[in-house]
Amino acid sequence: MRGTSNILLSKNAVETNVNFVRQKIGSDIRISAVVKANAYGHGIEHMVPLFEQNGIDHFSVFDYTEAMRVRLVTKSNCDIMIMGWISDEDIRDTLVQGFEFFVFNPKRLKLAVNHAKELQCKAKVHLEIETGMNRVGLLKEEIEEVVEIIQENKKHIEIKGLCTHLAGPESISNYKRIIRQLKKYNAVLSNMKSLSIVPDYRHAACSAGAFNYSKARFDLVRIGIMLYGFWPSNESLILYVQNRKDKSDPLKRVITWKSKVMSVNHIGEGEFVGYGVSYLTQRDISTAIIPIGYSMGYNRSLSNKGRILIHGHSCDIIGVINMNMIIANITDVPDVKIGDEVVIIGNQGDQEIKVSAFTNYSDELNYEVLAHLPENIKREVVN
Ligand SMILES: *Cc1c(COP(=O)(O)O)cnc(C)c1O
Repeated sequence: MRGTSNILLSKNAVETNVNFVRQKIGSDIRISAVVKANAYGHGIEHMVPLFEQNGIDHFSVFDYTEAMRVRLVTKSNCDIMIMGWISDEDIRDTLVQGFEFFVFNPKRLKLAVNHAKELQCKAKVHLEIETGMNRVGLLKEEIEEVVEIIQENKKHIEIKGLCTHLAGPESISNYKRIIRQLKKYNAVLSNMKSLSIVPDYRHAACSAGAFNYSKARFDLVRIGIMLYGFWPSNESLILYVQNRKDKSDPLKRVITWKSKVMSVNHIGEGEFVGYGVSYLTQRDISTAIIPIGYSMGYNRSLSNKGRILIHGHSCDIIGVINMNMIIANITDVPDVKIGDEVVIIGNQGDQEIKVSAFTNYSDELNYEVLAHLPENIKREVVN
């Protein structure tokens, strides 16, 4: 390990998660693996081939740059769908690459059609409908405009999908809103059908949508967090296990994050440790300095709260999280030496630090902890 930390990605865990989702969703429904935000911090270049090995042939990203990164590492002729940002400058190349993309305003469709005519190809579009999330999506009057554009340019538009996004299916508190969204979506769907606009794929569900609302599955589900081994919320896991004998979590964490001890110190009683006065020693202690900090995604709110593993022992982080370093209390761990392995996320001996250890102490979501992992940490696939 030459860098300050590295990330290990478990091939077996990916297999478990993909198989679990596929088995629950059913083989008739296509799974699009969501790999936005650098594959939820895991690394696009490593995760896409792993997903492909497990039969995934559809990938969802947020922007054009991510789509290109997926394209460069895919072996198969899989489909790549851009759900968010494409600059006007990149629309042409989006078509050249054959990427599918969400259309949430008529302007983007017009621009795409113009390029498609020039390139003599078809723009592969997914019409994103505003159903109640109130973020991006075609409004009623925009749908009419889009329908006109489609009818006038049939040779240059392929309606790959008609889709929407649900506003919080991971919590039952949003139940009514989700049901209203699905109703609205279905209404648009039948309206489109009456205009002879029939999409290849109807899709509305993220992980929580697919698991908590079977009627939201349609033809394709866009699954992110669960493929990485996490439930979108505790509630979603509870909902899944409540009527089952086996209450264990069927998903497996893919990621492990490790570092090394950079320095070992012995500090007397009555000393402050690190910046400021947030930690005062109550006795003689030993500390290990670890080259991980908030610039690497280790949230500062874990100051005096986080834990790391050394020699299979759980050690408290003391003092504030620095930009590049944390200090752990290793008083009760014998023989810690410079260079010893430190686990930040993962297992060591009988101990485990889960991502939920982070989210319990900060107001971060598991999505957020993962997405903050820097791209420049070295990643490696292991079994
Ligand atoms: C991120 C995202 C998903 C995947 O969400 P998960 O909760 O990670 O499964 C699906 N659809 C859209 C539009 C998204 O932005």
